[in-house]
Amino acid sequence: MPKVTCSLCDSVVEGRTLASPQKLENRIIDLIKKDRPEWEGKRGICANCLEQYRAKKFIGYLEAEYQKLSELEHAVVSKVTRRGRVSKLVHQDMDTQMTFGEHVADRVAQFGGSWRFITLFGGILVVWMGVNVWVLASHPFDPYPSFF
Ligand SMILES: [Zn+2]
Repeated sequence: MPKVTCSLCDSVVEGRTLASPQKLENRIIDLIKKDRPEWEGKRGICANCLEQYRAKKFIGYLEAEYQKLSELEHAVVSKVTRRGRVSKLVHQDMDTQMTFGEHVADRVAQFGGSWRFITLFGGILVVWMGVNVWVLASHPFDPYPSFF
């Protein structure tokens, strides 16, 4: 098997395991060029490097979704309730050290675990069931079992 080097990390690998730049997704090429502006995309990259940039791409999507989610949550929460948090200062300090996953867990726990959320969700559910059972009983647009 002919040995070649990866154009990113210079490790020596078998030629057939190298991914050719023409076959890479544009998003991945953008990410590589962001890290390595001098990279010309003329020679292939090894499976390790490809895997790393696939992971980066995925994390990029997750972070974008997370931003959207937290904006939506902010809007809902501020409409439903006034926010006052005693531990806010402590919280801001911790924020800088928390990982992405910890942020998500924190958000879900804060919002989903609050009594306001449970009450609100329960209320919406009851109203929805009522609407389905009584008001629309004659010509339901979302008939029994009515949840999906
Ligand atoms: Zn490599």
